[in-house]
Amino acid sequence: MGQVDEKIEGMYQEVLKRNPGETEFHQAVLEVLESLGPVVAKHPEFLERKIIQRICEPERQIIFRVPWQNDKGEVQINRGFRVEFNSALGPYKGGLRFHPSVYLGIIKFLGFEQCFKNSLTGLPIGGGKGGSDFDPKGKSDDEVMRFCQSFMTELYRHIGEHTDVPAGDIGVGGREIGYMFGQYKRITNRYEPGVLTGKGLTWGGSLVRTEATGYGATFFVNEMLKARKDSFDGKICTVSGSGNVAIYTIEKIHQLGGKCVACSDSNGVIYDEKGLDLDLIKQLKEVERRRIQDYTATHKHAKYIAKGNIWDIPCQVAMPSATQNEINGKDAATLVKNGCIAVGEGANMPTTPEGVKVFLDAKIAYGPGKAANAGGVATSALEMQQNAGRDSWTFEYTEKKLEDIMINIHSNCYETAEEFGAPGNYVLGANICGFIKIANAMVAHGLV
Ligand code: GLU
Repeated sequence: MGQVDEKIEGMYQEVLKRNPGETEFHQAVLEVLESLGPVVAKHPEFLERKIIQRICEPERQIIFRVPWQNDKGEVQINRGFRVEFNSALGPYKGGLRFHPSVYLGIIKFLGFEQCFKNSLTGLPIGGGKGGSDFDPKGKSDDEVMRFCQSFMTELYRHIGEHTDVPAGDIGVGGREIGYMFGQYKRITNRYEPGVLTGKGLTWGGSLVRTEATGYGATFFVNEMLKARKDSFDGKICTVSGSGNVAIYTIEKIHQLGGKCVACSDSNGVIYDEKGLDLDLIKQLKEVERRRIQDYTATHKHAKYIAKGNIWDIPCQVAMPSATQNEINGKDAATLVKNGCIAVGEGANMPTTPEGVKVFLDAKIAYGPGKAANAGGVATSALEMQQNAGRDSWTFEYTEKKLEDIMINIHSNCYETAEEFGAPGNYVLGANICGFIKIANAMVAHGLV
């Protein structure tokens, strides 16, 4: 990647010093700061008001104990987080991640990314993120419920429809949002749908929210392809992961005429040359909560590659939709060598800095997560709009809004990259475009 402008270098050093050991947060900050040299050259007021230093420091960080009992009656202790990063553009907004790898550095990288992503949507939402090192894998439904109730018993006092609006992320889907909403309602005695997004459809949820991140990422790639006078038609695609983002990415790829031949989970990779059978994947993952290895039980022609690397499978379009740093420099080089022409990130920061450099140097269409996967949070903001108006929109209407938002994000990033002398560089375009809007609002709000 590029270099940090000399005026900004000291700010990055300060971030390293103030946040020791938080490597993912450092990585996310560096990637944005590398893009901002030309911005501060044009806007000396951002330097004067120390906007970059202020953006790198969360407005508020909450860390709390989450005690709960497992089915055997044993006491369990987890750690809960909510990092309220930036409220210049609206209430803090961002998901909750339940995964054993969660610590402050992960939540801060996600919260930082979320600020720029939310800014790019053009909707009135600030940035935040939260979660816990709780591992939902192998837990019973009752255990998940008790955990969610305990988590919300602390979190409820920090959130609200005009303050902070959490949603899902890895390990948090409709079931968890339901348990947390129930507990929030019970403690506060308020039926306040706008306090959480990703709700069930009969109690304030929005159509298309489930599909939104995957659909949105695919719309974004479609726009990148169109900008190169190309399309999804007949393209061989691979999508890492098999959670909510991956499933609806595969669905939209198929609808747009592409053929997705592989997906994965943390144990291995499924390769189906004929194109993945999405109904089966939905049944295994959404209904039965099983591993994708079971795909081959009914589809004998497909291959399960235990501990395999999905990026070794040749494809024209790759859509990393699992987790951070899942594509390293070597994986990126393999993808490019095998003829990959477009990468759209459904996950947050799935490509390491070395990998990003490979994609940018090869000049393939590379859509970074904060732009490509913004459709999820954008549709959360549409859910908030419906809640505020006590309304519910049709699937077609909501999907069209999502598509328009993604088209808009694409053109804003594309045009910003051109304006700042780096045509085709969506990393630069997304970082600058997301940053300027927040920075202008912060200048307008004074020193707060
Ligand atoms: N966790 C999702 C993201 O990374 C969605 C957040 C939301 O809907 O608030 O953007």
